[in-house]
Amino acid sequence: MSRIHLLPEILASQVAAGEVVERPASVVKELVENSIDAGARQIEVMICRGGISLVRVIDNGCGMERDDALLSLERHATSKIRTAADLAAIATLGFRGEALPSIASVSRFRLTTREAGAAAGTEILVAGGRIEMVRDVGEASGTQVEVRSLFYNLPARRKFLRSENTESRNTEHQLHLQATGHPEIAFVFVRDERVVFQLPAASNLRDRIRDLHGNELVERLLEVESPNENAKIQISGLIGQAGVSRQTRAQQLTFVNGRAIESPLLTAALREGYHTALMKGQFPVTFLFLTLDPAAVDVNVHPAKREVRFRDPVAVREMVVESIGRTLAGGRREWQQQFRAPPLPVTNPPSVSAFPDRNLPHVIAGVDDLGHSSIARPIVSRGREESHKQTNVRPADGAKANHQHFEIIGVLNKLYVLMENADGLVLVDQHAAHERILFEQLRRRMEEQGVPSQRLLLPQTFDLAPRDAEWVERNLATLQKMGIGIEAFGPNTFKIDSLPTFLSVSDPIRFLGEDMIAKTVCRHAVKANDPLRYLEIEKLIRDLLECDLPYCCPHGRPTMIQISLGELEKKFGRKV
Ligand code: ADP
Ligand code: MG
Repeated sequence: MSRIHLLPEILASQVAAGEVVERPASVVKELVENSIDAGARQIEVMICRGGISLVRVIDNGCGMERDDALLSLERHATSKIRTAADLAAIATLGFRGEALPSIASVSRFRLTTREAGAAAGTEILVAGGRIEMVRDVGEASGTQVEVRSLFYNLPARRKFLRSENTESRNTEHQLHLQATGHPEIAFVFVRDERVVFQLPAASNLRDRIRDLHGNELVERLLEVESPNENAKIQISGLIGQAGVSRQTRAQQLTFVNGRAIESPLLTAALREGYHTALMKGQFPVTFLFLTLDPAAVDVNVHPAKREVRFRDPVAVREMVVESIGRTLAGGRREWQQQFRAPPLPVTNPPSVSAFPDRNLPHVIAGVDDLGHSSIARPIVSRGREESHKQTNVRPADGAKANHQHFEIIGVLNKLYVLMENADGLVLVDQHAAHERILFEQLRRRMEEQGVPSQRLLLPQTFDLAPRDAEWVERNLATLQKMGIGIEAFGPNTFKIDSLPTFLSVSDPIRFLGEDMIAKTVCRHAVKANDPLRYLEIEKLIRDLLECDLPYCCPHGRPTMIQISLGELEKKFGRKV
C-alpha cells in the first residue's frame, strides 16, 4: 500500500495557517491588508479578550459579489496576481490567496460583504474551514470579517498564545504599523469595547504621527531628504534628530513600497547613517519609507510577508545611509539658524572673574531674518562695570532678532550651563559639549591634513569577514588620511604598515573606526566638575553651536536639553 496521500483541503488550510496565522495580531494584519488592498478609506478594528475571543475588521472598500466572496475562501484564490510576471512585481499587500481560507480554517468565521452598486450583500458563515451558511444580507457597502474563538479546533496552537494583554499589545503595534504606512486611511481601534485610538484620515505622515504619538515627538522629527529626486530608490519619511533614541526597536519603523518590513540591512544602514549621533545599544526613531520599482524587491520570501529581499542591497544601503546623514546635517543647519553664534566681541573683553556669577546674563547670539549674524550684545547687569561696548549693531536687529537670541544664565552644579532662548530653558552638559567639539576638531584635522604616522616594525596582515572587508575597502582613503597605512592584500585580507603617531596601540585592528576617536576625546574633554570660567563657557557654547552635530556627544548622549516654556507652564499648573 502506498504511504503518500493528498491532505484533505481543510487540513491543508490548517497547515498553511500554521505559517500565516500565528496569533490574533497576524489575523488583524492579514485582514487590514485586505481592506487596504480593497481601497478602503476607513477601517475599524475591534478585538475582545486579546483577539482570542473576537477579531472584527470592518472596511468601506470595494466589497465582493457573491461568487467572489465564496471563491475568496478557497486556497490560492486571489484577485491580485495572475501570472508569474505579476508575482515578480507585486504592487499589493496580499498576493498568495491564503489568508482568508487559513483564518477560516482555525476559527468561527463570518464574512459579510457588498459591492457599492449591488442590491444585496452576501453573508457567509464558516466553522473550522467548513462553510455552514450563505445568504443575502443588507449591510453597508464594504466588507466585514469576524473571527471568533481563534484556534478553537487546534488546542495545541491555542496554548501558545500569550496573555490577553500581550496579544492586545501585539495587535496595537500591528495597527500602528498599518496606520503609519497609510496616513490617508482613517483607523479606529476598539479593545474590549473601549476606543483605544481613533485616527482621522490625514493628509500627511506628520499629522498621522502626531495623532499617534503626540506633538512632543513630532517636534523632534526631521523630514528625510532623499539623495536624488531621479534615483531609482526614493526615500522619504520622518526620523528622530540626533539624540532622539530608544532602548528598543519599537519605534524604528521601515516601509518598503508601503509595506512595514523588518530588515537587518535597513537596521544596519540606519545605524551607519546615524553614525555617532546614536549611542551604543540604542535604536533610532524612524518612520522611513523606501519606494522603488516593485520588480527590484522580492516580497515573496517570508510567510508573514514581514521581510523582503532587495535585488540591489548595496544600492539600498548606500542610499539610506546617505539620506539619513544628509537629513541629520539638515537638522543641524536649522538648529544653527536658531542659535547662530557670531564671532566673539573684539572690544575690551570683560575682566575675567570666576564663573558662575549669578548676575551675569549674557546675550550670545543673534541672527536677523536674512541670516546675517549680528555682533553679540552682552547685557551686563548691576554690580559689574560695563566692559563691553556695543559695536556695529544694525538698527533692524532689535525685535526681529530677539527670538533667536539666547542668554547664559549661569551654571548649575558646576556642570550644566543654563541658558535661555525664545522657547524657554536650555541646559548644556559641559562635558558632553566639550567632547563633541574636540571630536569634530580631531575628525576635521584628520580629514583635511591627514595625521602624521609611524611605520610599524613588522607590517601586519589580517582577514575580515566579507561585510567588514567591504566597509574597509570603501573607506580605505579615509583610513589612510587618519594616518593608518592600510592596503588591500587579497580578497578579504588587508595589510597595515603604519599607524598614527599619537596612538600607541598593540592591536591595530581594534581601533579602526570613529569609536576610537570618541574614546580618545573623552579622555581629554573637560571633566564634568571643572569650574569653567565665564569666557570659557561662552567660547564652549559658541564652538558647540558651530559643530556639525551640536546636540549630542560622540557617544550619542545629548549635549543640550530644551525645556520649553510650555512644559514649565504645565509643571506649574498654569496650563493643562
Ligand atoms: P490575498 O490577499 O493574498 O489575495 P486573501 O486570502 O487575503 O488573499 O484574500 C483573497 C481575496 O479576497 C483577495 O484577493 C480579494 O480579492 C478578496 N478580499 C479579501 N478581503 C477583502 C476585502 N476586505 N474587501 C474586498 N475584497 C477582499
Ligand atoms: Mg490578503
